[in-house]
Amino acid sequence: MSTLVDQDLFTGTPDRRALLGSRCADCAAHVFPRQDGCPRCTGGRMEDVPLARRGVLWAFTVQGFRPKPPYTGSKEFEPYGVGYVELPGQVIVEARLTEADPEGLRIGMPMVLTWVPFRQEEDGTPVLTYAFAPETQEER
Ligand SMILES: [Zn+2]
Repeated sequence: MSTLVDQDLFTGTPDRRALLGSRCADCAAHVFPRQDGCPRCTGGRMEDVPLARRGVLWAFTVQGFRPKPPYTGSKEFEPYGVGYVELPGQVIVEARLTEADPEGLRIGMPMVLTWVPFRQEEDGTPVLTYAFAPETQEER
């Protein structure tokens, strides 16, 4: 058993989840997380859409120290990658990366959505958050 850091960010079934974004019915702009107003045309006709599970790495860095509150990740901190992943035709999302070594990352590389442990509930239930992993050939 596991749970998710924020149910409102996701859609789909447990074995095939996607990030939940919004699409503007007027200008087709996509946003994540979902919101009620369009940042591009200021329209209010936003519809929920599952975002693409694959994208390309647009920018990245490595978080080398434990972020300040309200960060709620586990106490045993390990450095992790953070990046912007461009979902083709949709939006660029900020996400944790499974790869923490800059040598294993490069701009433009294909990435796929996955889930990583973020912290544990007091009863030991793992809490997962979304992340992007470099896509290997086998996963294509
Ligand atoms: Zn719009």
